[in-house]
Amino acid sequence: MSQLSNKSADTMLAQAMHRLDETTGAVIPPIQMATTFARNPDYGLRQEYIYSRNGTPNFDDVEQLVASLERGEESLLFSSGLAAVAAIVQSLPPAAHVVAPKGMYYAALVWLNRLAKRGEISLTLFDPSDTQAMGQAIRAGETKLVWIETALNPTWQVMDIKASADLAHAAGAILAVDATVTPPITCQPITHGADIVFHSATKYLNGHSDLLGGVITCAHKDDFWQEICQVRTLSGGVMGPFEAWLLLRGMRTLAVRFERASSSAERIAHHFADHPKLEKVLYPGLKSHPGHTIAAQQCSNGFGGMISLLVKGGFNEALSVTKALHLFLPATSLGGVESLAEHRKTIEGELTDVPANLVRLSVGIEAVEDLIGDIEQALNQLPE
Ligand code: PLP
Repeated sequence: MSQLSNKSADTMLAQAMHRLDETTGAVIPPIQMATTFARNPDYGLRQEYIYSRNGTPNFDDVEQLVASLERGEESLLFSSGLAAVAAIVQSLPPAAHVVAPKGMYYAALVWLNRLAKRGEISLTLFDPSDTQAMGQAIRAGETKLVWIETALNPTWQVMDIKASADLAHAAGAILAVDATVTPPITCQPITHGADIVFHSATKYLNGHSDLLGGVITCAHKDDFWQEICQVRTLSGGVMGPFEAWLLLRGMRTLAVRFERASSSAERIAHHFADHPKLEKVLYPGLKSHPGHTIAAQQCSNGFGGMISLLVKGGFNEALSVTKALHLFLPATSLGGVESLAEHRKTIEGELTDVPANLVRLSVGIEAVEDLIGDIEQALNQLPE
């Protein structure tokens, strides 16, 4: 664990500048664009830097901060969230058995299915609403990786990290947790037993919809972690130093952005919970949500800014609500300062189980009254 970890998360984030420039006193670290680092006269390394595919000072800034926030031993940055997912799976032994929830993040599932078709892994999907189903999917001594999300995108079904870790560990498997929608300011899966925590840094960690990134953190620097480090360096899915610098800059406001997004989402969820044009509001912060109790145990600082609305009617009604929103921009992605809305069925296509009447909202940091007004006027445009 890094030396930053004895400070509170808010302080670590706001003062993410442990590499203070002693000469100038600059309060933000410089961007080191060099791809290669000259050795000293006896051909030894000046610091640990060799070549930027192995690591750069700008990676270290972010990686040390994330490791401290997550209470992990070490973190690694990748060029995108999916590049990080790929590195985790590529680090498994050939044809390893992987267990994952039905309804997991769509693109990651598409990719796992492709690998399974090619025989590179074998994949068993389980019903995430039933912990017993996960237990039945896991094969003792055979399953190498159990993959869960803290809340399944876009139904926000909550998964119990501790129960999953117990099941995975009893079978000798690793538990990896996609915590993209619950950043470490609110949820630290390693403290609940996870071995690996994954984030699409594209989302809340950066928070400004201006870079792609992924970051993974380990509970222990074991052989599996060493393999992941090798895969990153050798497959080259690294972030550029400018993006790493930008990510650090975005992270400095994570605590306040997340607090605002969470409190606004909670107000929106309560406001529309019984709306006559809606079948249901899916939000783990609502007491009526089936995963509320577990989410409250796992998230110490807010339930996040992601809500899904199930619109009465079906595909057409949900699509017209998405189109009628003005402040919620009709775009994919989540976790940015601007609010976004998405009709997932249109995005995911016919083959998914995502409800056709689902509108996914990523609540940003605008005035919550404006956001409520926008949803209200969009719902009002539906016929009575
Ligand atoms: N995991 C979740 C939950 C996501 O929402 C996403 C992207 O939307 C990813 C993984 C993939 O990350 P990226 O788009 O940065 O590759």
